[in-house]
Amino acid sequence: MHWRFRACALFVLIAVFGLGSALAQPAIQPTVDITKVPAAAQPTANFNADAATEAYMAMIPPASYARSDAYFEGGYWLILWGFLYGSAISLLLLYTRWSAKMRDVAVRITRFKFLQTVIYWIEYTLVTTVLGFPLEYYQGFVREHKYGLATQTFWPWMGDEGKGLLLGLILGGIAVAGLYAIVRKLSKTWWIWGSVAAMAFMIFTVAIGPVFIQPIFNTPKKLEDPKITAPILKMAHANGIPTNDVWQIDASKQTTRMSANVSGFGNTMRITLNDNLLKRGSQQEIQAVMGHEMGHYVMNHIPKSIITFVIIVVLFFAFLRWGMQWTISRWGERWGIRDVADPAGLPLVFLLAGVFFFVLTPVLNTETRTQEKEADMFGLNAARQPDGFAQAAIHLGEYRKMRPGPVEEWLFFDHPSGYNRIHSAMVWKGENLELFDKNPVPPPAPTSSK
Ligand SMILES: [Zn+2]
Repeated sequence: MHWRFRACALFVLIAVFGLGSALAQPAIQPTVDITKVPAAAQPTANFNADAATEAYMAMIPPASYARSDAYFEGGYWLILWGFLYGSAISLLLLYTRWSAKMRDVAVRITRFKFLQTVIYWIEYTLVTTVLGFPLEYYQGFVREHKYGLATQTFWPWMGDEGKGLLLGLILGGIAVAGLYAIVRKLSKTWWIWGSVAAMAFMIFTVAIGPVFIQPIFNTPKKLEDPKITAPILKMAHANGIPTNDVWQIDASKQTTRMSANVSGFGNTMRITLNDNLLKRGSQQEIQAVMGHEMGHYVMNHIPKSIITFVIIVVLFFAFLRWGMQWTISRWGERWGIRDVADPAGLPLVFLLAGVFFFVLTPVLNTETRTQEKEADMFGLNAARQPDGFAQAAIHLGEYRKMRPGPVEEWLFFDHPSGYNRIHSAMVWKGENLELFDKNPVPPPAPTSSK
């Protein structure tokens, strides 16, 4: 999901958020066989969760630790650089009056305000995409290749970027033109009605995501292999999920990351696993991951996130109303922005959005991480595969820091850390030792036919 840092990120971010990429991500060629349960994690009478966790952690080679720490810590800085870079672009457009000039072009082309906003949006998106490209290219292409996470060569990657741009032009155009129409008609209460419209648009985007947006980039298909689907569907039916389908997606087209997710809203809600998980994961691991995803489904995490987002969106619009008035009254003349309803103020909207969401990063991470923890616990209970779950945590740790400090985890992690996930699994295993056959009974000897 590399296109989120483009300058038009806010709206695409909403779509990405909705696609709900869940257990997500990658892979660096496994150097150890993590499908073996280490000695200290065997279900013996002196099983100890801490020791079992350390035994799993010790299966990861030091070089892999160093690599995933470097990748993940680099991501902390990218949050800051993305914020600063995006802010610099907005300030550039305002201070050079390029934004005002782009608005003047739109006004010359048509007298219809709605179309003026659409034309401005197209100019704005194209200019910010070009200006933002160096960071996008580094983050989405160079860095992903450096860490062995990307599978695309340059032009197919550019193809996906082009599709993302087109999607941003269309969906963003509808959203921005609609919001500016509200600001023009309701000059006092626009921030309330704007929040309502933004939420409606977000729900719409989430709902069409799996059916209309995902297929633009990848090909989702129903998973057919009964060896994989049978245990998954059993688990689904046992947990009240009325489906006979599990979906798979060809994510290996873009990435080596393993992932699975729950996406959609209402009738389009579905569970999808990616082909990297199918190729590299053991049966136990796939079941553990699916148990987690079913947790998101059963506990209605997408509708709950939307409710949380209502609060955030209303706060954002209130902040926007205050911030726009304050800045335009001071610098509006210098920037060539007439009032809040002037589309030339859009870089200011994105500047304020950047500040707001940058400050909120730990809050949003914590909200997501809390749901992920819930899904982890649900998944352990549903799949009963603590070792498969530990294997998944190690696979996902190929691009995430496995053992962060507590403050670091709170600030930057949108999932529990690998260490904490393995530890939860081992605590669960320790409390359910009777499920694991300590003295397997040999299969009955074949009897001679009667
Ligand atoms: Zn999840």
